Amino acid sequence: MRMIGHPSAPPPERGLFCNRTLNLRAIKAIGYDMDYTLIHYKVEVWEQRAYEHMRDRLVAQGWPVAHLRFDPALAMRGLIIDTDKGNLLKANRFGIVKKALHGTRPLSFEAQRDEYVHTLIDLHERRWVFLNTLFSLSEACLYAQVVDLLDEGKLGGPMGYNDLYEHVRRSLDATHMEGALKAEIIADPARYVLHDPDTALALLDQKNAGKKLLLITNSEWAYTLPMMHAAFDPYLPQGMTWRELFDVVIVSARKPEFFTTRASLFEVVTAPGQEGLLRPHTGPLKPGVPYFGGSAIEVERSLRMSGDEILYVGDHMFGDVHVSKNELRWRTALILRELEDEVRAISAFRATEARLAERMEQKERLEAEACQVRLELQRRRLGYAPRDESLPADEQLHARAAELRAQQEALDTELGPMARAASELSNPLWGLLTRAGNDKSHLARQVERYADIYTSRVSNFLFATPFVYLRSPRGSLPHDPSLPGGAPVFAAQTPGGDSGGP
Ligand code: IMP
Ligand code: MG
Repeated sequence: MRMIGHPSAPPPERGLFCNRTLNLRAIKAIGYDMDYTLIHYKVEVWEQRAYEHMRDRLVAQGWPVAHLRFDPALAMRGLIIDTDKGNLLKANRFGIVKKALHGTRPLSFEAQRDEYVHTLIDLHERRWVFLNTLFSLSEACLYAQVVDLLDEGKLGGPMGYNDLYEHVRRSLDATHMEGALKAEIIADPARYVLHDPDTALALLDQKNAGKKLLLITNSEWAYTLPMMHAAFDPYLPQGMTWRELFDVVIVSARKPEFFTTRASLFEVVTAPGQEGLLRPHTGPLKPGVPYFGGSAIEVERSLRMSGDEILYVGDHMFGDVHVSKNELRWRTALILRELEDEVRAISAFRATEARLAERMEQKERLEAEACQVRLELQRRRLGYAPRDESLPADEQLHARAAELRAQQEALDTELGPMARAASELSNPLWGLLTRAGNDKSHLARQVERYADIYTSRVSNFLFATPFVYLRSPRGSLPHDPSLPGGAPVFAAQTPGGDSGGP
């Protein structure tokens, strides 16, 4: 028998990762987003269909785009669209651009430096569009492709990159909001949904541990009902449906506004024949009744809970996590499904990474000595400093400088392929989601700022139990004495490939 006190640990990629200490025992309500949180889609299939709907809308408006095809690897969550320039960017935690495509074509190092050397990305500006969720992949791909067409003069009429973005954006909104795409998904959930039977048990654990469970989704009732049925009912105890799992159900929530404003609240009528009709509602929220609209403030009031007693779990960096934390100080969990591939890729790279780190240390030692030799020669040449007679003669110092240069070049040749491999981990074009060069990515910065915890999927709560006390790691700072083996070097720059930046 397995010892209860020593449960099997989850695989590393299925952990709950903690930025800010969170005692789940002190949490009285857990709110869940639905799409890409409680229900995970087969991204390539869902996004391809969304892309095709968007593209066909543009074709219907006379755009010459019928030949375009969805490329799932072209973009990833956490990238930033520069709508002024028609570029797709990866930035580091400071907002410095580290990699760029113009349309679908990589910008050369020089072009990227010229374009962005004076730029710090501030997402408050309309120019930048952050890819907040996996729903953004179709939008980014189509935008990049139509930028190419615009550059080739194939779109006709005066149009800038901004206008182009607005067109793609409108077509994406329409695709999500009008019924055709959702109808296809409802008709064949198995084609689009990645089932995870453990999610139902994780939620049952939480409910039976006394927590109120909330479903707060931007999806409409007509979509939520069949999708939740398909994703949950087969995995719940006999006779139970997802409707009994949740104490509060809110659809068409209009996040992020849900967290910032007070919209009217309606009851969704579920009586046969009237299914989906809306009836204005005031007063506390009744369990078992689905609601439309409303606001987070109303949820807090109805539950008689304050923000720090509610954990909200969602996949949308801005709409679910950033705003709920900023406005109401809810505790937050970000679902980042890509983390599973990311952690696996980092693990598989560990041996090369160790070699890379060792060579980098060697390179730093050579560089440090080369600096000392150069400074000594400068002092001798200009004669402004006291002479240290114990040091070698000028000719020997020159010879040593040449030797060091040769050694550095040899090391760079060896480092190049390893550094390139590090920068192509997980996604050959963009590298890791959470890294940009050797630094944290812009996405990683937002995760640590707004998500108290993050994990790849909701069923990972199963391993942790509803009683877990999640403690944030101490965190390291550049002045900490280095650990044995040195700091990890996930994506060291190829020699000469790092712009440094402002
Ligand atoms: P949630 O993640 O459960 O809150 O639901 C997300 C809902 O928003 C889904 O019904 C999506 O179809 C919809 N959605 C996602 N992205 C967009 C968009 O860019 N425009 C309009 N609706 C969107
Ligand atoms: Mg979602």
